[in-house]
Amino acid sequence: MQFLEHFEPELVVASPGRINLIGEHTDYNMGFVLPTAIGKKIIFKFKRNGSDTICNVYTLGYEEGFQIDLQQLAKSEIEWHNYILGVLYELMKRTDTLRGFDCTIESNLPTGSGLSSSAALECGLAYGLNELFGLGLSKLEIVQLCQTAEHTFAGTLCGIMDQYASVMSKAGKVILLDCRSLDRQMIPISLHPYKIIMLNTKVSHSLATSEYNVRKAECEEGVRIIQEKYPEVQSLRDVTVEMLQEFSSQMNETVYKRCAFILEENARVFKVTRALQNNQLKKVGAILYEAHHGISQQYEVSCSESDFLVEFSKNYEQVLGARQTGGGFGGCTLNIVHEDAVDDFVKNAAVAYKSAFEVDLEWFEVAPSEGTTARWMK
Ligand code: ADP
Ligand code: MG
Repeated sequence: MQFLEHFEPELVVASPGRINLIGEHTDYNMGFVLPTAIGKKIIFKFKRNGSDTICNVYTLGYEEGFQIDLQQLAKSEIEWHNYILGVLYELMKRTDTLRGFDCTIESNLPTGSGLSSSAALECGLAYGLNELFGLGLSKLEIVQLCQTAEHTFAGTLCGIMDQYASVMSKAGKVILLDCRSLDRQMIPISLHPYKIIMLNTKVSHSLATSEYNVRKAECEEGVRIIQEKYPEVQSLRDVTVEMLQEFSSQMNETVYKRCAFILEENARVFKVTRALQNNQLKKVGAILYEAHHGISQQYEVSCSESDFLVEFSKNYEQVLGARQTGGGFGGCTLNIVHEDAVDDFVKNAAVAYKSAFEVDLEWFEVAPSEGTTARWMK
């Protein structure tokens, strides 16, 4: 694209991916999560281009760009365009000072790996344009409009966690977030001498979006059945273990399993929070293993690659716990590994994974990091 020559940005935005320590699929059930941003991120460079409505967006990873007219925003056939278009559409609905801009996108965040590159993409764009054009949106409004953009343009009926974690995180903390009230508590996290090691299965099964929406519908089905007797129940968040048991014979087995997982997973968020606060790292690890079992057997959003890596980690006393993280069907596993054992663990995991699946394992360390930041260049 022409603007790439001599491109001198006015504003640079760093938009991080996120991990979620515990609380998988609980966000869209209005429950609790414990995420944080990580050091891997998408960097946006922005410049106003003087046009009223014409924008140019280029992503270096794909070596691909496109031109957009703010007066003609509609869904695209090209997947990644929809994350951009969706955000612009939501910004245009809410504000009236957005004008033409040029933007480049550069990322070291693996896509489709459960680290929420989609939220990083949406939020970095919205955050940057809010700053560049003084749109006057709060951080929370940015989070919420990006979630809406993911629903309407990208087609994933995601909860609020990914966008919230990407924008709001603080270094050295995990966010205990109530996804209904959006009350949050920043929980200090210190794992020393353990590290958070991500193993990327590098599989991104195509089921991810469609099955995600199916799980959401199954949870809603559970709520509907329970509501017949308990009309005050708005989401699985409001359901107790006793209530769920009462309805077990009226739900099909699948819906029951999904609901039971969500109830247990919500409880695990508080157990992990308490264990972190009491520095009981072994307990944190044990709960992660328990969660993976639920992800795999009750919620059924794992896959053989993730199961393999979680099982493999159990060979190591120095690995306290592991589980698949993210929406499911591949992506990364999160492992809590003693710093002295990291090299050995990842080397052997890579050999075992290669011989089982013929795939080169990728790994990296992450640490709880700061949310989105913006910097003016002059
Ligand atoms: P995740 O959020 O777990 O990474 P998703 O499937 O939700 O997985 O989002 C991944 C999609 O986001 C990619 O397929 C692509 O469309 C878009 N995306 C992420 N990063 C970039 C990037 N740097 N440039 C363009 N598109 C990107
Ligand atoms: Mg995503």
